[in-house]
Amino acid sequence: MKYTSTRDNSVHISASEAILQGLANEGGLFVPETIPVLDVTLAQMTQMDYREVAYEVMKGFLDDFTEEELKGCINAAYDEKFDTPEIAPLTKVDDAYILELWHGKTIAFKDMALSILPHLLTTSAKNNNVKDEIVILTATSGDTGKAALAGFADVPGTSIIVFYPKDGVSSIQERQMLTQEGDNTHVIGIRGNFDDAQTGVKNIFNDKELKQRMLEKGFRFSSANSINIGRLVPQIVYYFYAYTRLLKDGIITDGEKINFDVPTGNFGNILAAYYAKQMGLPVNRLICASNENKVLFDFFETGRYDRNREFILTSSPSMDILISSNLERLIYEVTGKSAEKTLDLMTKLKEGGVYEITPEEKEKLSAFCGGFATQEEDKDTIKRVFDETGYVLDTHTGVAYRVYEKYRESTGDETVTVIDSTASPYKFARSVMEAIGEKTEGVDDFELIDGLNKVSGMTVPKAVEELRGAAVRHNTVCGADEMKRQVEVILGI
Ligand SMILES: *Cc1c(COP(=O)(O)O)cnc(C)c1O
Repeated sequence: MKYTSTRDNSVHISASEAILQGLANEGGLFVPETIPVLDVTLAQMTQMDYREVAYEVMKGFLDDFTEEELKGCINAAYDEKFDTPEIAPLTKVDDAYILELWHGKTIAFKDMALSILPHLLTTSAKNNNVKDEIVILTATSGDTGKAALAGFADVPGTSIIVFYPKDGVSSIQERQMLTQEGDNTHVIGIRGNFDDAQTGVKNIFNDKELKQRMLEKGFRFSSANSINIGRLVPQIVYYFYAYTRLLKDGIITDGEKINFDVPTGNFGNILAAYYAKQMGLPVNRLICASNENKVLFDFFETGRYDRNREFILTSSPSMDILISSNLERLIYEVTGKSAEKTLDLMTKLKEGGVYEITPEEKEKLSAFCGGFATQEEDKDTIKRVFDETGYVLDTHTGVAYRVYEKYRESTGDETVTVIDSTASPYKFARSVMEAIGEKTEGVDDFELIDGLNKVSGMTVPKAVEELRGAAVRHNTVCGADEMKRQVEVILGI
């Protein structure tokens, strides 16, 4: 199995090299040259637990890992860090099946991939004779930073530095990061916004003199960003897992097609579902749910991607995105794996903010269907589902749930549908409590959490409980222009 770049077909590298490198040199994304086939049947998978399914799904994509190495990575990732042995449980809510992807350390779906990425990365380093300490640099607007910190904490051979906008994250998110344990973790608030943090990190990555000095001292940078295939491949697993649980429970028959409905931002999660379909998972429709930043909805409707619009801050912030990076991998597919055409479209996106695919290319998107929900609809849905079923959706899953309802109303499609739930409602307790009609004004975060516990009866996740008494371990704040200096101080170079 080799990986090539969406912008340069002359690239042929192994999985571990792709994981180490993250992004291709010309800015393209790594994609598998062929889609592996499974060695086991779906029926056989019904007898396997999450880790066993993970091994069967991932081994074809990561074929330069030995069985022992890959199983080692899987076992180190999907263990008691998750608060349920199922790892990704399915819950029936009304007539939909909710796939809860938030039982990991930071109660967001990012844990599904960031729990294993550090192990894939260190194994990749070992197999490529990279002896340097891997320094993960990340700019975060909230969720990714904490999930990456938790994933890399105390992983030998790595350290992680996270920059976040000091006044640009929620107080729970900030507390989650500042109390992070692990001798190799570093968290720095910057005086500036997320774009400043992101630009600062990019500048550090591109600083050749710094890179040289780091290599001399035995360090190299890497990224835990969602475009790394080491984050994408682990996400394919839970689509097979969900299907085979439904099969095991007799809800579907072997080979029956189902729909997946995914609250989407950077297009990583739903792209993993598409890869699962290409591997032979019986999928009817992939429903791409957006909030008011509905660039993807418009794209699936018209074939025209247009980021020139107002950026709307919503109550589902992890979906507030106008450039969905992973869509490039799908564009590569629909252009018939043409690096030339993909590069051309991505250049248009970069320069003018717009590109358009041809009608023939658009036809190849027929597995996908876009939908969106406004903040008002999201809020109403959370309340209605709670009132009718007692189940509490977070604000991202609320968007997906509403999109699912609209999809059914407009198409009449009665296919069994799995809705990805990407965050625990406790992560967005303020918005959720407001949606279900509880008082939130002047109420502090932990009171809201206790209130949510009282009205819903849902156990407060350990990740939240731990925050209450946790000591703040990080307190560095710097200007956006001092980020490089901070990195030098941390690494002692
Ligand atoms: C990251 C995230 C998403 C978006 O996932 P993508 O893979 O970027 O499309 C949705 N919901 C939550 C809660 C997230 O953290």
